[in-house]
Amino acid sequence: MEKNQDPAVKNEPVSFIEQFIIDDIKEGKNNGRIHTRFPPEPNGYLHIGHAKAICLDFGMAKKYGGKCNLRFDDTNPVKEEVEYIDSIKEDIHWLGFDWEDREYYASDYFGKLFEFAVDLIKRGLAYVDDQPADVISAQKGTPSQPGTVSPFRNRPVAGNLDLFYRMNEGEFGEGSRVLRAKIDMASPNMQMRDPIIYRIIKSFHHRTGDAWKVYPMYDFAHGQSDYFEGITHSLCTLEFEVHRPLYDWLVDQLRTSDYRPRQIEFNRLNLTYTMMSKRKLLELVQEGKVSGWDDPRMPTLCGLRRRGYTPESIRKFVDLIGYTKVEAINDISLLEHAVREDLNIKAPRVFGVLAPLKVIITNYPADKVEEMEILNNPEDESMGKRKVPFSNELFIERDDFMENPPHKYFRLAPGAEVRLKGAYIIKCESFKKDEKTGQIEEVYCTYDSSTRSGEGSEKKVKGTLHWVSARHAVEAEVRLYDRLFDHEDPSGQKDDDYRKFLNPDSLKVLPGCKLEPSLAPAKPLEKFQFQRLGYFCVDYDSTPDHLVFNRTVSLKDTWAKIKK
Ligand code: ATP
Ligand code: MG
Repeated sequence: MEKNQDPAVKNEPVSFIEQFIIDDIKEGKNNGRIHTRFPPEPNGYLHIGHAKAICLDFGMAKKYGGKCNLRFDDTNPVKEEVEYIDSIKEDIHWLGFDWEDREYYASDYFGKLFEFAVDLIKRGLAYVDDQPADVISAQKGTPSQPGTVSPFRNRPVAGNLDLFYRMNEGEFGEGSRVLRAKIDMASPNMQMRDPIIYRIIKSFHHRTGDAWKVYPMYDFAHGQSDYFEGITHSLCTLEFEVHRPLYDWLVDQLRTSDYRPRQIEFNRLNLTYTMMSKRKLLELVQEGKVSGWDDPRMPTLCGLRRRGYTPESIRKFVDLIGYTKVEAINDISLLEHAVREDLNIKAPRVFGVLAPLKVIITNYPADKVEEMEILNNPEDESMGKRKVPFSNELFIERDDFMENPPHKYFRLAPGAEVRLKGAYIIKCESFKKDEKTGQIEEVYCTYDSSTRSGEGSEKKVKGTLHWVSARHAVEAEVRLYDRLFDHEDPSGQKDDDYRKFLNPDSLKVLPGCKLEPSLAPAKPLEKFQFQRLGYFCVDYDSTPDHLVFNRTVSLKDTWAKIKK
């Protein structure tokens, strides 16, 4: 991190990219204008890696009074779908960013790009190569050895022009010819060795239909689209660093003034226990390894949303990891930390019992119900209180009772006392056990009526449990998630078979959970902290008759620090 050099902005550390932007503004480049773009290829759903790019592209524009365009990189008609375009727009808005009326498509420029290609041919800077792609690729040489010149490199302009037009008229088959820029077959940068700039594709394009039979390569479309849109800072990931000389070369053939977009590269986001490749994520979806792009175990933005992540937590996470030139793999626990911090402030606390065990309070009248007033969020008293009904039959967590507890077990056990959070202290008098299975069926307790929470009782006990009144409980299905892969870097392994690292226990469905009745009207995407268990979010599958919750993340310290 470098120190911000602009006195007008708070002197906080800024990324190297932000420092470039500050310097460019100071030098008056492009009249101080800042214009970025986010250029997704509509061939899959956005993932958290894209969020890193989105936060930078939109974030820098916002911070420095500029604009950010959304530009779909739709240069490959084969893999792209309208469904993806819609989802990308939804996810960017959800993250909290807006492109206003600047929704563009690389295909908007197919006409201009074609003209530019024709112009390069006329200037002797491009030629049609009749060799197949594998031959061209074999002729590229190695970084230390120059490439082999194509036999078609010196075809006269008229012949190139004629062939290029005929390529676009559909006269030739896919792969039979390409257009190449004529740069330098001996360049130490392989990207500069007469790169392919146009290829023949005969698929239907989602926006231009059958109008084109030739399509520009990414490298030929991207920088030029930046140029056409007046982009000043074209921020992309490090793998494009070696493309930068080509980016600049192409823009230089096009430009007519001082204006020139500047490509700056930063490190991609990689996360442990997951993977970011859209192709592989699509495979997971197509092979049914997950329930869809928005499966809550997916690193996609729609998956994270369904899991219960907030946009704020994702932006916070991206801020924490920052932008550098060093490739790294970030720990997924940092993302989990960010969502915990955010939900700690926002999510109301409630009681939910995932593995219910019946507790009967033998000295509490069977027909009595008390409404216990409980704070919704001790972190924020303005979130108010709610009433939780208390009666003689309750559910507690199966884990919270042990017949033969170890030393320092502060939960319920024969003869032991615990506080029921927000209610009374109870003492375990006896229990019923199924002798065949060893399963505890019911626990019998007495309560001390002088210990009601909030009424100044002096009596203290070490353990506090959450509970739900059996008579009032609402049933729910709860889905617990673990990491989708049990390897830190599932897609970075030698044979590339990430499938063998799929974690067989990544989803656990608990059908008969018991929740406090205030949760009955909860709607999809509403978020709660189930006390002592974690943060949970209502799933899209949830209906009033069948509530479904996803666990977003567990609480860090499961048993500690619950005050009455
Ligand atoms: P994939 O290789 O999985 O298809 P991509 O990089 O081709 O991903 P694009 O849709 O082209 O995906 O990406 C749009 C923008 O998001 C690009 O500017 C790209 O650099 C950026 N981006 C993609 N993945 C990451 C990542 N993991 N971290 C940061 N930025 C990313
Ligand atoms: Mg890409």
